[in-house]
Amino acid sequence: MFQSTPLSGRIWKRLPLSQMNSIPLKGKVSNRSLFLMKCPFCGHLETQVVETRISEDAEFIRRRRQCGACEKRFTTYERPDVSFPSIVKKDGRRTDYQRSKILGSMTLALRKRPVSTAQIDAAVEQIEEKLLNLGLREVASSRLGELVMLELKKLDKIAYIRFASVYRSFEDIDEFRMLVDEVGR
Ligand SMILES: [Zn+2]
Repeated sequence: MFQSTPLSGRIWKRLPLSQMNSIPLKGKVSNRSLFLMKCPFCGHLETQVVETRISEDAEFIRRRRQCGACEKRFTTYERPDVSFPSIVKKDGRRTDYQRSKILGSMTLALRKRPVSTAQIDAAVEQIEEKLLNLGLREVASSRLGELVMLELKKLDKIAYIRFASVYRSFEDIDEFRMLVDEVGR
């Protein structure tokens, strides 16, 4: 099955200056065109693209931007706008996929565990890529839950057990014990 690479694991190639700014502002092509994007630090509206890179597989464009006011730098990513499948709950109701929900339950499971925010973000990125790669218009919430469990298992075994014990409704204590044995606690 096709395995996609998260943002953090990609190889990025620097684009030559001539290809850096494909959209010239006011008809001018300049090496450091101004783009309207609000600075996340001070709210200033003009930021300059100081570097553009393309991922090796050409699926993403990454731009380093610098604020014209506070001069802080930040990164933006461009990727095709594809929509997530609807999530179908056990009772048959459909909801929109919400990153905040996934992030919330993962953060809860990982509470006080030695896992960084960057690692959690990368895991969510993985889940989302897998979700998109399914190529389906709707996905059962249980399947999404399995994707979350898979990532938690890689990140932290305690968090995995926490999540799984809440998420899975255990038939009996043996099933829970099997799960604990499985992760080698
Ligand atoms: Zn700023």
